[in-house]
Amino acid sequence: MYNEGARAFLEVRSIAPSNGKGTAAVFDDITAKRFWSKVDRKGDDDCWEWTASGNSAGYGQFWLDKLVVAHRVSYEICVGPIGEGLVIDHLCRNRACVNPNHLQAVTQKENIVRGVARQNRRIKLDALTHCPKGHEYNAENTYIHPRTGWKNCRVCKNVATRISKEKKLGRAKSPRPYSDGRTIKCRQ
Ligand SMILES: [Zn+2]
Ligand SMILES: [Zn+2]
Repeated sequence: MYNEGARAFLEVRSIAPSNGKGTAAVFDDITAKRFWSKVDRKGDDDCWEWTASGNSAGYGQFWLDKLVVAHRVSYEICVGPIGEGLVIDHLCRNRACVNPNHLQAVTQKENIVRGVARQNRRIKLDALTHCPKGHEYNAENTYIHPRTGWKNCRVCKNVATRISKEKKLGRAKSPRPYSDGRTIKCRQ
């Protein structure tokens, strides 16, 4: 669903945002362009930080007849109108982020349940001193995943990256079958 949202954003659809109250303003291309000009857009999985002003809680602000929070506008441009009573949950916990892949519309109740679960997880994570393979979670070796907020071990991450690279190389080198089932054999 979220990847679809990100793709839709590339087309910059013009849709009627709910503004949380069902007002029927329309995101025309100029508004959408004005919006994206204030966003530091990166890869699909990265946080897209709001570069213009934000409110005291750390959420980006965008002028749309009145000041509205930027991540809701991003969601409405990319995914669609936000249903009545729904709030937008930042899966990445980065309030300045407007990447639609990191945003999810949920009920207020669900949002509270998630908040409590995250807090409990955070407490457990903070108590962890070593990764499952026994490497220490010190400042240099700890990588916080931007989307999940999960503590990761850099040593283990580097090993995993190397293995996946080697696998890719291995695949590229291995003989490729023709569509009729024959195999190309490369001389070494
Ligand atoms: Zn994010
Ligand atoms: Zn490790």
